Amino acid sequence: MSQHGNNNSLNQKISRLRLICQSLFAIFCIYVGWQFYSFYLWALDPAGNSFVPRPSAVEAFLPLGALVSLKRFLMGAEFDTIHPAGLTVFIAAILISLFFRKGFCGWICPIGFSSNLAERVGKKTGIMFALPAWIDLPLLSVKYLLLGFFAYLILWKMGLSELTDFHRSPYNLISDAKMLHFFLQPSVLAASIMLGIILFSFVIRNFWCRYLCPYGALLGLTALLSPLQIRRDPEICTSCKKCERACPASIHITRRKTVRNCECIGCLECVQACPEDECLTLATPCKKTVTPLLLPALTLGLFFLCYLIARLSGHWNSEIPVEVFQRYYQMIDKIGHP
Ligand code: SF4
Ligand code: SF4
Ligand code: SF4
Repeated sequence: MSQHGNNNSLNQKISRLRLICQSLFAIFCIYVGWQFYSFYLWALDPAGNSFVPRPSAVEAFLPLGALVSLKRFLMGAEFDTIHPAGLTVFIAAILISLFFRKGFCGWICPIGFSSNLAERVGKKTGIMFALPAWIDLPLLSVKYLLLGFFAYLILWKMGLSELTDFHRSPYNLISDAKMLHFFLQPSVLAASIMLGIILFSFVIRNFWCRYLCPYGALLGLTALLSPLQIRRDPEICTSCKKCERACPASIHITRRKTVRNCECIGCLECVQACPEDECLTLATPCKKTVTPLLLPALTLGLFFLCYLIARLSGHWNSEIPVEVFQRYYQMIDKIGHP
């Protein structure tokens, strides 16, 4: 088989590989959620429930606490000892976006995966539609406004002592349980908002990620520095627009030679959709074409490397004894934001 033939057959596997990869992370997250719920039940009632170890990976869902910890760490404080896994995953996601686009969103994040599944259902049932540009563009700014708000509060307003006060507060200690509590017993308003977001995800492509997620906004901004880019060869391109229809981030790929866009999640769906050999490729800044599979390979490699370093250096599991978590979980209703 020719080199091109090999590349094409590799490209055809991208979608399937992504689906497998995202599914495995999603299954792992469901397992972590179940384990954390069991730990929480034990903490509330040790006599009535058997002990299940607290899964450190649950901290990956606490990005705001991780931002506080990261700033403290960069200001010379210790690496987070309360939720170290949360800080590790946060650093991994930022490093991945710095080098390999928003690979964290495209290949790892289970919420992005849920959004992709909702999109598939929406497309199959024919209820999905694209918002007109006059609504799409202002809505696109919402996640950046949310990011700006959190950045202002945490990066701009809080000095080291305020960061440390928050970090050592009971609220931060039980923020994982607070999150669980929020989903188990949402207020009417919170439940209505969540339901609205879920319903919108079936009719508007990538609704949460595209318009509302400040985490994705941060990764998108750092991804602008990423050396790996999708390149289009206008000499080969037939303007069939199959790439644009496949792109979950609704990027106008045919209007440019290089996709330098903070919405690009590095999913490579466009590369797979393109019927022309060597027309859409993954390239380095010096225009050298590399195999597209390098992006997920490096994304996952860096993610697991960060995990391994944290694990081996003792920065994955919390130093807080489970009895302390237990004591504070039992006071969950009395502990508010500092
Ligand atoms: S935008 Fe947010 S929710 Fe969506 S995939 Fe990225 S980090 Fe996950
Ligand atoms: S441009 Fe290509 S890699 Fe980027 S989000 Fe769209 S389909 Fe995925
Ligand atoms: S799918 Fe390929 S050939 Fe078609 S418009 Fe996109 S880049 Fe051009």
